[in-house]
Amino acid sequence: MTTTKVVIIGGGIAGLCAAYDLHKAGCDVTLHEASSRFGGKIYSSKVGHRIVDAGPDSFPARLPQGRQLCEDLGLDSELTSPIAPIPSLIHRDGKLFTPPKGTVLGIPTDLEALAESGLISSDGVARAAEDLNLPSTTIGDDASVGTYFRARLGDEVTDWLIEPTIGASHASDINRLSLRASSPVLWDIATSNRSIIKGLREARGGVGSTQGSAGVNEPVFSGLPGGIYRIVERLLEELSGADLRLDSPIEDLESLEYDHLIIATPTPVTARLMQSVSPDGAKLLADIEYSSLAQVTVEFSKSALSSIPETSMLFFPAIGGGVLSNATWLSNKWAHYAETSGHRDTVLIRLTSGRSGDGRAIGLDDDTLTSRLISDFRTAIQVDQEPLNSRVVRWPEALPHYAPGHATRVEQILASVAKDAPQVQLVGAAYEGTQLPVCIGSGRDAAARILA
Ligand SMILES: Cc1cc2nc3c(=O)[nH]c(=O)nc-3n(C[C@H](O)[C@H](O)[C@H](O)COP(=O)(O)OP(=O)(O)OC[C@H]3O[C@@H](n4cnc5c(N)ncnc54)[C@H](O)[C@@H]3O)c2cc1C
Repeated sequence: MTTTKVVIIGGGIAGLCAAYDLHKAGCDVTLHEASSRFGGKIYSSKVGHRIVDAGPDSFPARLPQGRQLCEDLGLDSELTSPIAPIPSLIHRDGKLFTPPKGTVLGIPTDLEALAESGLISSDGVARAAEDLNLPSTTIGDDASVGTYFRARLGDEVTDWLIEPTIGASHASDINRLSLRASSPVLWDIATSNRSIIKGLREARGGVGSTQGSAGVNEPVFSGLPGGIYRIVERLLEELSGADLRLDSPIEDLESLEYDHLIIATPTPVTARLMQSVSPDGAKLLADIEYSSLAQVTVEFSKSALSSIPETSMLFFPAIGGGVLSNATWLSNKWAHYAETSGHRDTVLIRLTSGRSGDGRAIGLDDDTLTSRLISDFRTAIQVDQEPLNSRVVRWPEALPHYAPGHATRVEQILASVAKDAPQVQLVGAAYEGTQLPVCIGSGRDAAARILA
């Protein structure tokens, strides 16, 4: 029996998960990673005395692939939930508002609560209520999140409630973001109901709810004390003996020998690599845009802040015009950031900027970026002192932007590659979801197909 030789390009979570399953099954695995560390977007480093996630700090608990991997790696007993499922706050005109009761994935289902929230004007509430009576909106094969919700609920609700919720999680301009690919649950409701509010009211038990099937509160996100990077460390331990190469960028496929090839890189790289073997696939891959993010994580003394909100997330909608898009109050969100011994009198906040098409932040030098983000943050929370510690991280190709038509484009890419280069598989965030469990699943599914 000869051993199956598999080459993997890209050492982010998708490539590492494929390598893990294939190595365990006895394949001869070689993984090439261009940079000098594994993990891709998963990365932790020190802010003051704490090791703090700079990429993902958690993953959605409802998607099974994240927990399954942690179980396989013996990390599941350490998974932790946010301290409390506290609602996020939305910043408008210098004030912070709690999203109205009944808001699901940014969409208000309780119009009385919307009116009482103070976030939306009475005209805006009246316009949102029109959704209940308007004829259905034609969306064909796909529509942008902005186009669909502006038609159903009007501009005000779309800009101040839906944009921060859906736009921020995809680091995208909602006016160019695919409803179908970014929010499959909403897509299903939008295509099978005339009114989105009525559709959501009916589906609410299962959508965006913290109530599990057993009727008990289930966590929405899972995190890991010590940082999500620990998953990468465990994968690397399990991969001992495999041929894992750092500082090994692959520029073309000609030099590689393999029975199977898995490409787990962002699509600008994948497109270049596929040019010689699947030109049609490569052309479609090159059309997928990326958004860049820049983050400043700051540690303040508690006494420096006028107030500490009872939430872990402050959203700054794009229409407000600032550079800051959201602030994650890490020490409100995770016990492991709140209670590191000796640091209880400090708070840790991650300030994030960047959306597709908005490259204002990434080009700023560290000092200017830090002061711009803190200055935007100060419009919501009064800060009287400079941070004790800060860390700047830039992600130039942070997240793929799923433009309308993305799902069809992905089907076409995968069909072209299957026809032109059946021994090649494409995995990672660019295709069927950017969240960690989806990326984990895409790498493991590719391994399973090879092993089958
Ligand atoms: C700031 C930030 C916060 C996030 N927060 C969350 C969160 O809280 N929860 C969640 O579920 N998801 C989150 N995500 C999304 C998630 O982290 C990513 O979608 C996921 O980690 C991407 O994994 P990947 O393996 O597809 O790609 P990547 O992590 O991008 O890995 C690709 C790898 O390919 C390498 N590479 C590139 N070119 C070459 C080449 N020529 N040769 C060899 N190697 C190459 C790169 O160096 C990189 O290591 C976040 C993302 C970011 C950026």
